[in-house]
Amino acid sequence: MILPDWAAISIYPRVYGDLPGRRSATLLERQHRRESNARTYPRHLPIAIANASGSFVRDVDGNVFIDFLMGAGVLSLGHNHPELVQAVTRQLSQFTHGLDFPTPAKDAFIEAQLSMLPEPMRDRMKLHFCGPTGANAVDAAIKLCKTATGRGDIVSFQGGFHGSSHAAMAVTGLVEQKEPVANGMPGVHFFPYSYCSRCPLGLAPDTCAINCVNYLERSLSDANGGLALPAAVILELVQGEGGVVPARKEFVGRIRALTRELDIPLIVDEVQTGCGRVGTWFAFEQYDIEPDVIVASKALSGIGAPVAVIFYDKRLDSWAPGAHTGTFRGNQLAFAAGAETVNIFRRDNVLSNVRERGEQIGDRLAKLQLNPWVRDVRGVGLMWGIELADPQDGRPAGALARKVQARALRRGLILEVGGRDDCVIRLLPALNVSAEIVDTACSLIEETIEECCGSATSSSWAPARGPDAMGDG
Ligand code: PMP
Repeated sequence: MILPDWAAISIYPRVYGDLPGRRSATLLERQHRRESNARTYPRHLPIAIANASGSFVRDVDGNVFIDFLMGAGVLSLGHNHPELVQAVTRQLSQFTHGLDFPTPAKDAFIEAQLSMLPEPMRDRMKLHFCGPTGANAVDAAIKLCKTATGRGDIVSFQGGFHGSSHAAMAVTGLVEQKEPVANGMPGVHFFPYSYCSRCPLGLAPDTCAINCVNYLERSLSDANGGLALPAAVILELVQGEGGVVPARKEFVGRIRALTRELDIPLIVDEVQTGCGRVGTWFAFEQYDIEPDVIVASKALSGIGAPVAVIFYDKRLDSWAPGAHTGTFRGNQLAFAAGAETVNIFRRDNVLSNVRERGEQIGDRLAKLQLNPWVRDVRGVGLMWGIELADPQDGRPAGALARKVQARALRRGLILEVGGRDDCVIRLLPALNVSAEIVDTACSLIEETIEECCGSATSSSWAPARGPDAMGDG
């Protein structure tokens, strides 16, 4: 494939004049008139996209941006990876849509996916192909566990995000999305997550002995605790939309021990953390646990062709034929690209790149913490967050994070925000991003933070990394 010259010649973005440019403004205005009020990204990133390549996106006005949003983590090998384009093109001329029939492309995809699981899990897990969104796979996981256990309740965690379908929304923490929609799925119980820099129990970090997981343990074992044994516990190991919050390792280990003891299936939602994002194929590998159900979607195909699966322990496989159907469960293009993605990860050592570029981001952004408005810089692999808060009262500085997002775009860098009141600036680069592009992007972030939050004042700090990025409690 021939790369567009603007992507091949430079690691620098180029933005001419104000945003949106004239052509983007026209398309945004047409979108405003014709599309749903529920649309999201272009409200804060006001561009219309013409084309893209690797880590770069070009808008219809000719502005070139470094893309650290990457389709919300979908495009693990960047835009239009030439070998994935080839794999999709090859498959396109053969066969595209296969319901849930077995096909060579699907078989190769399954083979590749199972080969990425830790060895002891490969024979234990089965796959179900869901409708092609993370939310649909979350729904499937919940239904599977309800059916297998005969129980009805679900334990979920504050700050978690699992999607926008009715059931996925019910197990999601985001109140704003749920409030206008009455009669959500009943029987969901939210427990505190190990978000130590904003302790959900209001404790000072240095007084904690993982009180959040103590609370869950006691609630589930107290005969007067008011909680029936749940059908499942669903957990994000690094909360993504919740503001890049890696769970404490002990928190996760104890949840696994508890759910095992009480025979409660543990669902890990790896829709965002999965397929290499955190430097291992799945995040649970870094927590030394084996879950009962894994939900995966976003980056499974590597190129944005939609596909979603659950991997689950065979002992749960008691649901009936047709228990979770869906017309779009057989996207052969996604399967072809997904199998090729796994090959490329192995050949190009992409997981090492994720870990190395993650370290680079941590090192480069370390000094941001010296800025009084920066409450925390944390990350795992290539999933990083910069949390902004008012230095006076510690309140989440969402408006400031939006300003940083807008000003970074003006400099040519696409960033996401998330977390409480959207106060966390999020970085989700391609997993094969180069050191040079990371360097350029980090410089743009530093300049933008300095512009929006003033310059740094204090010294001696190192960023939090990995599963214990939330500190020692
Ligand atoms: N789970 C997690 C952890 C997610 O981050 C998301 C999407 N951001 C979803 C589920 C839902 O995925 P989808 O948008 O494909 O439904």
